[in-house]
Amino acid sequence: MVVAIPTTPDQSPVQELSAYKTALAQYDRAVAHIDIDDGVKEFMRYPRREFAVNFPVRRDDNSVEMFTGYRVHHSTVMGPSKGGLRYSSHVTLDEIRALAMWMTWKCAVVNIPYGGAKGGVVVDPKSLSERELERLTRRYASELIPLISPHSDIPAPDMGTTPQVMAWIMDTYSMHAGYSVPAIVTGKPIHIGGSEGRIEATGRGVVVAMAEALRFKHGHFDATETSVVIQGFGNVGSNAAAHAHSLGFKVVAVSDVSGGIYNPDGLDIPEVRKYHAENGALEGFPNSQAVTNTELLQLPCDVLIPAALENQITADNAPKIRAKMIVEAANGPTVPEADDILNERDVLIVPDILANAGGVIVSYFEWVQDLQAFFWDVDEVYRRLERIMIDAFNAMVRTSEKYEVDLRMAAQIMGIRRVADAMITRGFYP
Ligand code: NAD
Repeated sequence: MVVAIPTTPDQSPVQELSAYKTALAQYDRAVAHIDIDDGVKEFMRYPRREFAVNFPVRRDDNSVEMFTGYRVHHSTVMGPSKGGLRYSSHVTLDEIRALAMWMTWKCAVVNIPYGGAKGGVVVDPKSLSERELERLTRRYASELIPLISPHSDIPAPDMGTTPQVMAWIMDTYSMHAGYSVPAIVTGKPIHIGGSEGRIEATGRGVVVAMAEALRFKHGHFDATETSVVIQGFGNVGSNAAAHAHSLGFKVVAVSDVSGGIYNPDGLDIPEVRKYHAENGALEGFPNSQAVTNTELLQLPCDVLIPAALENQITADNAPKIRAKMIVEAANGPTVPEADDILNERDVLIVPDILANAGGVIVSYFEWVQDLQAFFWDVDEVYRRLERIMIDAFNAMVRTSEKYEVDLRMAAQIMGIRRVADAMITRGFYP
């Protein structure tokens, strides 16, 4: 059953470092630049609907354990809502709300016809066996059925979820429908309706955004002379590292939750990926020095790419960051106070809603291909991805010049303006 939770942003129980507080603070700053009705401004601060569910999962030892899951639809103004599912023991409704709101602006910034959503289950997926993970996923998916469909809300992978998890969701939904519905999720394995290039899309898009930002800042740059530090070595971080390395960038440090490795002369990323896959950790990689995640964020480099989780760059560590540019691959890695410090120090920040949009762009391609049952090759996917990323980057720069604001504010203004215009044209029902 759908459980409606009548919460408003102001009543929400927020943690000390609340992602939703960050999302609302960013929204309030950006919307102040836009000349629209106060009612429309207020409307966009609220999630459209929120869903919470508590459900049982039978463990392999026959015991039953309860889990909590969420799905938040922030906006459905521009089209069906779209957003990933996160499996993490740190998932909270506050975090899911923030991520859903960022999805709304992200889709609007890159001009794809989606609203924003996000979901998650409070679980450490590594604590479950494969069969337990499947049972948890199928139960959560069946609880979501009243909320999702290829024309209303389309989930995707995020932290802790994989193409296999998407396959189980597609299968569960299809079993209920009585026929195969590949367009119900994106990020599926290719042989069941996934798109070429989806796994690499977010990381690749991050590197496209980084290259555009370097061009914007310096006019010309030499990749071999450009050092890059990446926090997080999951889907996004490892694919960003691989694409940057393949273009000749010097990736000098990478990390995962257990710590990082550093070599100022550059790491051999294909070898690091092999080592990480074999050992489950980065520590001990030959010719590298171990660094903590705190140290990694403060290493000297041209570009820092946070690709792990939110609230990593704060008022405490922002003054110590030595990168000249930050390209936000993770969602919400920088808190607003840190933004101010970094802007004052002239550190260029390429905001998350633009920098990591490659994932949702190729998810959109996957959905379009599924609906048409007509599939593209990887070159076509990458060509279209790069064109959308570059056009959006340039539009963000023009907006930043027009309003005399930083790139984050510019991206938010673009996204909010588009949603507001659509809302005003559609009108308030009834
Ligand atoms: P993932 O689960 O594949 O990888 C997360 C990585 O972060 C892992 O290497 C993990 O060890 C590391 N990590 C976790 N906690 C950490 C900590 N405290 N310190 C340092 N490292 C830590 O997740 P992902 O899909 O790569 O997502 C990473 C970020 O990118 C998230 O913020 C996600 O919302 C965002 N994002 C993902 C996609 C996508 O397509 N997967 C798209 C857009 C944005």
